[in-house]
Amino acid sequence: MVKKIIPVVDSYQERAVAVGVEIGKPKSDFTLEDSLNELCLLAQTAGIEVIATLTQRLEKPNPQTYIGAGKLEELKAIVNELGANIILFDDELSPRHLRELEKHFDENIRIIDRTALILDIFAQHAATREGALQVELAQYEYRLPRLTRAWTHLARQAGGGGGRAGSVGGVGLRGPGETQLEVDRRDIRRRIAHLKEELEKVKSHRRQYRRRRKKSGIPVVALIGYTNAGKSTLLNALSSANVYVADQLFATLDPTTRRVILPDRNEILLTDTVGFIQKLPTHLIAAFRATLEEIAEADVLLHVLDISQPTAQQQAQAVFQTLKEIEADHLPVFTVLNKIDLLKDPRQTINILEQYPNSVAISALKGLGIDDLMRKLEEFLFTRQHPLTLELPLRETYLFQLFSREGAVDKIEYSGNKIILQGKIPGRHLAKFTPYLYKFPEEKTALRELIP
Ligand code: GDP
Ligand code: MG
Repeated sequence: MVKKIIPVVDSYQERAVAVGVEIGKPKSDFTLEDSLNELCLLAQTAGIEVIATLTQRLEKPNPQTYIGAGKLEELKAIVNELGANIILFDDELSPRHLRELEKHFDENIRIIDRTALILDIFAQHAATREGALQVELAQYEYRLPRLTRAWTHLARQAGGGGGRAGSVGGVGLRGPGETQLEVDRRDIRRRIAHLKEELEKVKSHRRQYRRRRKKSGIPVVALIGYTNAGKSTLLNALSSANVYVADQLFATLDPTTRRVILPDRNEILLTDTVGFIQKLPTHLIAAFRATLEEIAEADVLLHVLDISQPTAQQQAQAVFQTLKEIEADHLPVFTVLNKIDLLKDPRQTINILEQYPNSVAISALKGLGIDDLMRKLEEFLFTRQHPLTLELPLRETYLFQLFSREGAVDKIEYSGNKIILQGKIPGRHLAKFTPYLYKFPEEKTALRELIP
């Protein structure tokens, strides 16, 4: 099915036809159309206008051209008719699919997949050195297996095609019997090794910083959520900090931490993070591991959900899926329903609050519900005692002391080299004890439900 979109802005030079393919049964709750709509927003963020969309449902991808032969003809016709210069695939194309598809189109028509697009947006928005290094590494790792003569040629002509990460570094002295392509591959490999070393250094800095932060004893709350949910806006609202806020996907790439004083003068460190998105390629997650590790190191997660989105529930699921992947799904989650100012009927807020029983409704932009959120967050972290039962190894004397000091011990039982401990502890300490929860799976899930 082809859907033409009437251009809103005609100043775009990049005009794309977007192609969405559903292989087999739907793998997530995002429909083909939801995903394609999101791709259009991603494209817009990257300065590309999508002028038509094309969809297909397949049992399995065509081994050569990914889409079927008939669909390929349809695509060619629409690209010609509309004068598009980009074909944008909503999935990651294998190097082989990309090469085969390129054979069917003119050299001036670029074929880009979702991964390349997200990488490009990441590259545009990396603000710190670490962010820039991570994106560059991910870009090279993505490009290495996809390197073709044509690509190298174009990249060199364009003088590095699209920023730092596009240039191969000009070391290209050809060894005996080496082709240009081999030289390029060798350069890229060398660059990848160098980037990895640099990142390792940044990482050890970050570790030291984290250690210092831990010593301070101030609880760390990490803002998490789907991209564009309003995390940076909320950080601003809570801290009046001047963090970069933009109506773009992935405006924030690097974690920014601010100190926030709550109504009863308790302090927290609030950390902004990169947004999650469905179909975030695995090697991209790997590239951003250091950034994402910040999340796993937090004491509590503040999950921001854009409740004005029809796909809010699916977005929440994508967030929890990513948490699992970065092994941060043991942390207590506090849910914030954001953008209530966009709901047409105020009664909708009440309905939605009922759907998410443990949540606070706010508008980070209009400052609605912020006081309520601060009070409930403070209560959760500092005042309320959360009941739990632990199976604590005797060697964890530090944790035992912490529990006795900050919590309330109701019952204690010794069993071999373990203590079975029943009691209560304020929210800011919960995460430290989750690895030792008694009756593990149930309690672990129950923790998720702990909210203001
Ligand atoms: P992030 O990607 O989660 O950090 O999202 P941002 O904080 O950058 O916000 C994305 C967009 O949503 C920006 O245009 C914000 O102005 C807008 N936004 C954030 N919170 C609200 C809100 O409560 N109401 C409305 N209407 N817009 C909001
Ligand atoms: Mg942000």
